Amino acid sequence: SLSEQQSVEQEAPAGEDYHLWHPFSQMQKILGAQNIVVERGEGPYLYDQNDKRYLNLTSCLWNAPLGLGRQDIIEAVHKQLNELSFAALFRTAHRPAIDLARKVAEIAPKRLNRVFLTSNGSESVESAIKMVRQYFHRKGSGKYKVISLENAYHGVSYGALAASGFADDQQGFGPMPAGFVKIAQPFNRDSQTEAEREAFEIACAEQLEKAIVAEGPETVAMFILEPVQGMGGAIVPGQAYFDIISETCKRHDIKLVVDEVTTGFGRTGTLFASERFNLDPDVMCLGKAISGGYFPLGAAVATDEIWEAFLSDTDAMRFNHGSTNAGHPGACAAGLAAIDILTRDNLIADAAARGEAFLERLQELKELQVVDNVRGIGMLFAIDLVRDPAGREQLDAEAMDMVAKACFARGLWVHIAGSRILMLPPFILEDSHFDEAFSGLKRILSRVP
Ligand code: PLP
Repeated sequence: SLSEQQSVEQEAPAGEDYHLWHPFSQMQKILGAQNIVVERGEGPYLYDQNDKRYLNLTSCLWNAPLGLGRQDIIEAVHKQLNELSFAALFRTAHRPAIDLARKVAEIAPKRLNRVFLTSNGSESVESAIKMVRQYFHRKGSGKYKVISLENAYHGVSYGALAASGFADDQQGFGPMPAGFVKIAQPFNRDSQTEAEREAFEIACAEQLEKAIVAEGPETVAMFILEPVQGMGGAIVPGQAYFDIISETCKRHDIKLVVDEVTTGFGRTGTLFASERFNLDPDVMCLGKAISGGYFPLGAAVATDEIWEAFLSDTDAMRFNHGSTNAGHPGACAAGLAAIDILTRDNLIADAAARGEAFLERLQELKELQVVDNVRGIGMLFAIDLVRDPAGREQLDAEAMDMVAKACFARGLWVHIAGSRILMLPPFILEDSHFDEAFSGLKRILSRVP
């Protein structure tokens, strides 16, 4: 049974003398039981306080696709901190920020050319929303509304949270800021055939037009989406979806904002998902893998057209936004080093090829009665679990807890989101790692009652 696999060495629970408040975590559970304390990381592995080894199938929080403990990135950061440990970007500049912005502009899709540095993904999304709203304000337009997708995850600050589509995450934090509108995510688990799938996606894309008309096009500023939803469950729409939403945004003068915090830097098999789906965004939000997970970093990358609306000989027209540590010199050095490695040779394409082979193997799991659906693209995978495939009852929290415990007991570090297993492995995994992951998952899932 599953519980037999949970023979981890138990350490005393955290207890009274524990002051750390974890994000998105039930502290009572953490205080009441032995919890994993990660002591060190090496390549694709994490090691806990008992020196137990875990295969990092999530690139931590998908921000470390190059693995942990890389000397090339650590040395770049070290060198930068020795030279200049900090300088702000409020009016004055520093070299690593200038170089990183140039690099990001060079590799960013199509018209994206101006790089506003941040410290994380939420701040990138927040910056994008404020940038687009103030852009229209500067132009004397009344456009301010933000349309986004249900089940989207855009972050935790109020704008990003309001744009996000998980109701649980907003509960008790209200009121949300005004002017945020949701449309359906392009996914329906009942679509059986390719044709049904496409028809559903097209209907979802057409909801954008309907929402714009219902709200009044003169009030709608932007549509934000993750080209492939990550937390929402590895949702990969077909090209028709992207073509329709792109055309709709252009026709109504609505800015297309892509949240590539998860998909950026190779996760879906190309450097940016926007390239893969031929998107021509007005703003792109970046975070996570931009620094390989070696320093907090993010960016909102905009077109010249947006940037120019803020140019003036008066300060009143500037972009009134920014935070102290955004574009920290050490973060920029990490970013430059990580991007250099990510864009070298065929690292991303090779990873995507191994990902494709892994996805094919994962499809075998659909034979198990607990597995409802397996999806993925590049190095991003989701497995949806159900209690009863016929009755369509999702696996409950208690059973998912057991699945999580069994995975961790087996040394497989996965991410559990609702009744779904998410995996976003590092790009450095080799065939033997995928074998280990697959056989472990198969064994665990075949024992779920
Ligand atoms: N946008 C997307 C698509 C994300 O996946 C995340 C984080 O998971 C964020 C934004 C928020 O990024 P951060 O957690 O760095 O604030």
